[in-house]
Amino acid sequence: MPIGRHVAVIGDGDVAMDVARLALRLGAQATLVSGVPREEMKCSGFEFEEAVAEGTRMVYLAGSVEVVRDGELVKGLKCIRMVKKEQGEEGWDHPIPFFRFKVEPGTEFTLEVDQVVASIGQTTDMTGLEQTTGGGPWLKVDHNQQVEGMSNVFGGGDAVRITLLTTAIGHGRKAAESMDLLLRGQPLPARPSRQDVIRFEKLKWDYFQPASQKKRRLDHPREVKGSWREVLVPLTREQAVAESARCMSCGLCFECNQCMLFCPQHAITRFPGNPEGEVMFTIYERCVGCHICAEICPTGYIDMGMD
Ligand SMILES: Cc1cc2nc3c(=O)[nH]c(=O)nc-3n(C[C@H](O)[C@H](O)[C@H](O)COP(=O)(O)OP(=O)(O)OC[C@H]3O[C@@H](n4cnc5c(N)ncnc54)[C@H](O)[C@@H]3O)c2cc1C
Ligand code: SF4
Ligand code: SF4
Repeated sequence: MPIGRHVAVIGDGDVAMDVARLALRLGAQATLVSGVPREEMKCSGFEFEEAVAEGTRMVYLAGSVEVVRDGELVKGLKCIRMVKKEQGEEGWDHPIPFFRFKVEPGTEFTLEVDQVVASIGQTTDMTGLEQTTGGGPWLKVDHNQQVEGMSNVFGGGDAVRITLLTTAIGHGRKAAESMDLLLRGQPLPARPSRQDVIRFEKLKWDYFQPASQKKRRLDHPREVKGSWREVLVPLTREQAVAESARCMSCGLCFECNQCMLFCPQHAITRFPGNPEGEVMFTIYERCVGCHICAEICPTGYIDMGMD
């Protein structure tokens, strides 16, 4: 798609920041049109700051009314001022910030731009795949990423809900594990494997060596136009390895042996003879439920349940 000379980007999320920065790199001017004030914009703080540092002009509290054309060509974006709704007014506490604002009649103004990009959210196009959505716009999957009512179909990522790369990759991995079980004729887990988030308080942090975070450095090019250099400087190999060593394996067993060493009943074993997949194995006949293992476990992996 050819780039204009001055691009208006409608939106206030991270994608809008990306689009504005891309326009700048391609040599255009970029004006971002946000319907809300800075403090209510959906984008992350650093994305905003980087977009500004690279030269994006921000216009706040502006609703988009009309793309002004001259024949086939775009010559402007007509906007209108937005104001906050009064408390109690319909939508004043809407979860999406934009809907907490309303237009102020008679305040139209026009931005002179020759290209307009809307970055105001995405949805799916499930035409032909309706049986996978249960009538809605999204793929309907369970905790095994299996499409509801279709045992041979799995899915994830943005088709389930608009999300991030890491979530999409996690969905893909979970779906692959489910498909593997299915193909081996084994049952899929009846329940999600772990629903609760292990909070910092549940970790035994005395167990871990303090280690400061290796921060990535920002290095903006002097001239953004034409530059495709990484702005966020990658960690060195050594720094990346050191970062991964800071992982506290929250909620996962990292085989530190503490539970086995402290169990007064010798109920926890780590022998080659353990059942498949059980590195640490509890012999429940010996366990007296003293909670010592749960208290000592650095990662919060051991949960003393009722069943
Ligand atoms: C501008 C922008 C910036 C983003 N920045 C970030 C970021 O910085 N960090 C981050 O974590 N996430 C970011 N995201 C979100 C991230 O890109 C997505 O969450 C992620 O790519 C979702 O992966 P996915 O595999 O579900 O979908 P996609 O990556 O969209 O892949 C879907 C694939 O399916 C194909 N497809 C579609 N329909 C069909 C069909 N009927 N048959 C066969 N194939 C089909 C498509 O062509 C596409 O290749 C950004 C998204 C956008 C749009
Ligand atoms: S609860 Fe006590 S006896 Fe049971 S496994 Fe843990 S430490 Fe051993
Ligand atoms: S369950 Fe906890 S204490 Fe036992 S080996 Fe795993 S991480 Fe260590």
